[in-house]
Amino acid sequence: MVPVQIKAQRGEESKLKIIVVGAGLGGLGAAIALLLAGHEVSVLECANEIAEVGAGIQVLPNCSRVLKSWGMGPALEKYATRPRGVNMMGWKGNLISSMSFHDSAAQYPGTCYWDFHRANLHGCLLERALELGANVRCRARVMNVEVIPDGATATVKLENGEQIDADLVVGADGINSRLREIMLGRPDPPTPTGDLAYRLLLSAKDIMKDPELASFVTDPQVNYWLGPDAHAVNYVLRGGELFNMVLLVPDDMPAGASTLEGNVEEMRAMYKDWDPRIPKFLKLCESVYKWRLCIRKGLDEWSHPSGAFTLLGDSVHATLPYLASGAGMALEDGAVLGECFSRIKDKSPASKKMALEVYENCRKRRTEMVVERGNMQQYLYHLRDGPEQEERDRRMRMKPTVAGE
Ligand code: FAD
Repeated sequence: MVPVQIKAQRGEESKLKIIVVGAGLGGLGAAIALLLAGHEVSVLECANEIAEVGAGIQVLPNCSRVLKSWGMGPALEKYATRPRGVNMMGWKGNLISSMSFHDSAAQYPGTCYWDFHRANLHGCLLERALELGANVRCRARVMNVEVIPDGATATVKLENGEQIDADLVVGADGINSRLREIMLGRPDPPTPTGDLAYRLLLSAKDIMKDPELASFVTDPQVNYWLGPDAHAVNYVLRGGELFNMVLLVPDDMPAGASTLEGNVEEMRAMYKDWDPRIPKFLKLCESVYKWRLCIRKGLDEWSHPSGAFTLLGDSVHATLPYLASGAGMALEDGAVLGECFSRIKDKSPASKKMALEVYENCRKRRTEMVVERGNMQQYLYHLRDGPEQEERDRRMRMKPTVAGE
């Protein structure tokens, strides 16, 4: 990794003991930023181990800028695919618009578009956090957070009965956040969106065998097909080793489920009349899982009034993945939190409250906007053929948008 100066060589009077709950993308990003701000950081993760989970993840320029600022550019480049651009197509395969990522990255020097397997992005974040001195513990499920009455510290209670004190607790425990419920003092399940995602990882070698599909691997681009009530996205991963395909369709999962094994035949049937290349891709898939897509509507307050407990990432603003920005927003949260706590001069509740107030003010509107825009994309991407769809396509041709799944 590239050496990055730790901003604050702090004395004990201002070095906070921080617990981040959740070693996902957002939690590890926050740990890195808070370590760079000179604090002591422990990350508590409920999983038994940090495993290779997930599929493709698109990193947009705002997010690549954050990752590079943490000295992670060269490490990430080893696993990244840099797509040439994005193509938006109708469901029959007709091109609506194209945008070159090179032109767009040139507008924002130092940034780029990257596509990753989530496990590689996650692995690089973990490596960077450990390198900077994070204490990362697995099998550590947080059940409760109690703010000490004087407001200066909080105590985290683990499932095994252990209790740990901290000057600041950061809840980065994802969409089904326990810490959000603790903050609110009531149950608060995520909101279903009416869509689910089939996530497929295909072998790029298999795709290369079909001359009609090979160019999807040899000329990496992000491709979208927009159709009635559904859409599809695909892109190359690991420089041409894997191929990521996501199908976004109406949610038919039973109440209470979040992930289930899908039926490949059912999935294929939904796309049988689309661009003939899509059924060809789906023929290469032998088994599949489906994910219910939920969101988190914004909270009035992200932080406890004591200044000892706050939230970050999907726990506070999970969005539909239709702008490819959920992880980007979580990582931006971490960068801003780190910046706010790099300026702290002492451990007093007043200083922490001030830092959290600035953090919230910087992040709230932007993340709410991304959640709203994600919902709007759901409507626009899934229009049935007709005048509204024609108008959408006309506008896309005028000003291509950078989109996500
Ligand atoms: P998570 O990554 O979910 O991490 C939460 C962590 O907390 C987990 O490790 C969990 O085990 C742990 N945890 C939970 N409860 C506890 C507890 N009580 N105690 C201790 N640990 C706990 N985003 C993008 O930017 N680009 C994309 O292209 C993109 N594509 C997506 C495609 C799909 C189909 C989906 C569903 C999402 C996509 N996203 C994308 C969104 C992105 O994956 C999430 O926004 C991001 O992972 C959120 O990070 P997080 O750290 O907040 O939560």
